[in-house]
Amino acid sequence: MTHAETLAGVVSSLADFDPHALPVALARDAIERFITPIDSLELVPLRRALDRVLARDVISPIDVPAHDNAAMDGWAVRYADLDADSPKAFEQIGTALAGKPFAGRVTTNQTVRIMTGAVMPAGCDTVVIQELVATDGQRIIIPPRQKSDQHPGQHPDQQQGQHRRLRGEDLSAGKPALSAGRLLGPTELGLLASLGIAEIPVQRRLRVAFFSTGDELRSIGEPLDPGCVYDSNRFTLIGMLTRLGVELIDLGVVPDSPQALEAAVRDASRQADAIVSSGGVSVGEADYTRDIMNRLGEVAFWTIAMRPGRPMAFGRIGQASYFGLPGNPVAVMITFLFFVRDALIRQSGATPRPVLPVPVRSTMAIRKKAGRTEYQRAIAQIGDDGVLQARLTGSQGSGVLRSMSEANCLLVLRHDQGDIASGDRVDAMLFDGLI
Ligand code: AMP
Ligand code: MG
Repeated sequence: MTHAETLAGVVSSLADFDPHALPVALARDAIERFITPIDSLELVPLRRALDRVLARDVISPIDVPAHDNAAMDGWAVRYADLDADSPKAFEQIGTALAGKPFAGRVTTNQTVRIMTGAVMPAGCDTVVIQELVATDGQRIIIPPRQKSDQHPGQHPDQQQGQHRRLRGEDLSAGKPALSAGRLLGPTELGLLASLGIAEIPVQRRLRVAFFSTGDELRSIGEPLDPGCVYDSNRFTLIGMLTRLGVELIDLGVVPDSPQALEAAVRDASRQADAIVSSGGVSVGEADYTRDIMNRLGEVAFWTIAMRPGRPMAFGRIGQASYFGLPGNPVAVMITFLFFVRDALIRQSGATPRPVLPVPVRSTMAIRKKAGRTEYQRAIAQIGDDGVLQARLTGSQGSGVLRSMSEANCLLVLRHDQGDIASGDRVDAMLFDGLI
């Protein structure tokens, strides 16, 4: 498969924009155009297909359900036999259970006891639920079509075809059941099982290499020398990448040296479909990173009009897509969410579903500068009036993971938006299923 577009082409289309303040939406769009989906199929058993990307359309081999069947427990009848406005006696000629159909044919004034899921007996078109049916000891008394004045409130109108599920109403034979590119969730596993499909063609998992850069970083287990911090970014990345269902290639911590960085990037590009690094793209460090990246591949260095976030590198090294995220721990998570996540889903061969913002009422005034997108950590909850409201969690510093951990959502303050007054509606992105 050919690459979607060259980076130079994508970047030149952004030429009208200030490279020191690239709007989030444009950067996302540029990344989307540049990403090339893998196409490398493997067959997996259905029970191992969760979170995989369907590689081929699935055409339904059968009708689901395979027969008209009862949606409720009751009595199967011919609607035409029901009296217009008086209860009427019917003769029971058999029983239909789920998996045990009634073999005969129903004719005038006959009825069959039927259970949910049982095949509709031949001749019957309607099920009357058991709660409405009486017996005189021998015969079955079925209520009339219309609610009768003699028995007010005892039964609703009976409709022809009621409580009957039609053959093929879920999926019909020969029609597409699922399209290639669908991310398989629990519903899709159930749907494929309902078709009797045992093996599924899926894309192989995307291989994603990741590393952290910085002389100050120590790995867990190492002593924390003065001025050093533990490398936390690799662990948020491990978490977020694992949630995406990709294969992880952990390349550890890379010191701030051109040789070490070059070796790590070469190594990553040989093994991986995508490379994610954190740190080393801020103004002070970008120069030598830029030299190396552009010797090994094609990489753009952007300053995104966003907070937290801002510096970010994006491009391709060899065949691998490359995402150079900022170093600050919250900035890593936010740039991953808004730039890397959808890109990796797309590169895996799936179509990312948009994460829908939820409108919430801010319970506090928030300072916001127009001309950049701001992501504020917040706690959303239902207010006394039943309306969703949100308040910010502690410090919004881009290094403060604690306030990220306390939050259950991000307030997404749009590019053009200015200060927020208490009581204003803002967009929130709930973490559920995202982080
Ligand atoms: P940088 O983008 O490399 O200039 O890093 C910005 C800030 O994030 C610095 O305070 C770094 O110490 C910190 N930082 C960078 N990488 C990591 C990491 N992997 N884990 C924790 N903090 C980091
Ligand atoms: Mg650094």
